[in-house]
Amino acid sequence: MQVLETIRKLCVCCMEEHDVKKVLLRETNIYKGVSVKYNAEYFYCEKADEMYADEQQMTSNDSAMKNAYRMAAAC
Ligand SMILES: [Zn+2]
Repeated sequence: MQVLETIRKLCVCCMEEHDVKKVLLRETNIYKGVSVKYNAEYFYCEKADEMYADEQQMTSNDSAMKNAYRMAAAC
């Protein structure tokens, strides 16, 4: 897990304001029957020990997965 930055914000996980780490994870997923590997971005709440993605991260994680699929399918 790679920490991109630490931001003080209202954490939607525990609904408190604290330092939240923006992290990059190497994910493996099955998309259209193909195993794809890509980097996904999440926020990590240390208080709850949970990862979550906001709307923007969900969108970019989704396109990262589809890009990885296109790369895998092209080979
Ligand atoms: Zn939190």
